[in-house]
Amino acid sequence: MKSDQAFVDRFWAKVCKTDFCWEWTSYKVKGYARITLLGKSVGAHRIAYELVKGPIPDGLVIDHLCRNSGCVNPDHLEAVTVRTNTMRGIGPSAVNAAKTSCNLGHPLTDGNLIHRKDGSKTCWTCHRAYMRGWNKENRAKINVYRKRWLDRHPGKMAEMNKKYSGRHKKYRAKKREEARDEFGT
Ligand SMILES: [Zn+2]
Ligand SMILES: [Zn+2]
Repeated sequence: MKSDQAFVDRFWAKVCKTDFCWEWTSYKVKGYARITLLGKSVGAHRIAYELVKGPIPDGLVIDHLCRNSGCVNPDHLEAVTVRTNTMRGIGPSAVNAAKTSCNLGHPLTDGNLIHRKDGSKTCWTCHRAYMRGWNKENRAKINVYRKRWLDRHPGKMAEMNKKYSGRHKKYRAKKREEARDEFGT
């Protein structure tokens, strides 16, 4: 790409350099500078980065440190992971990811944190309280479903009871043991 001087000249001719941002004066999509290279539309900020700073490592995206998506100033561009880019943005997912406590002030630290598949965080304490409330409110509905399930699976309950019997007792004994160790009684 660097050897194609005509392209490089054509590229920089589309840039209006100011003291701060280098504005792209040509074609843009959603505010992002675009240019056609070998018949393909590519991000002009990516080209600017590669022309000045070198190849963008595989899998990385270009982040605008100046938050001006139409800027192609290589000094304002950084190659980062998609995750970092989203975190730096100002979208709800970035706000959520940056949270250190829930709306009720429970700390969002290990042990009290649910990582959702979409990358957002949820407070375990609040989730548990919510589920407890939900169970209480929907007790009647749950009982209907349970009854229906039991009717459809005769003998299953006895089978499960047999399979899991003693587990709870064992768990309680283990917990007692742990507590004894902890308090030295
Ligand atoms: Zn800029
Ligand atoms: Zn909470």
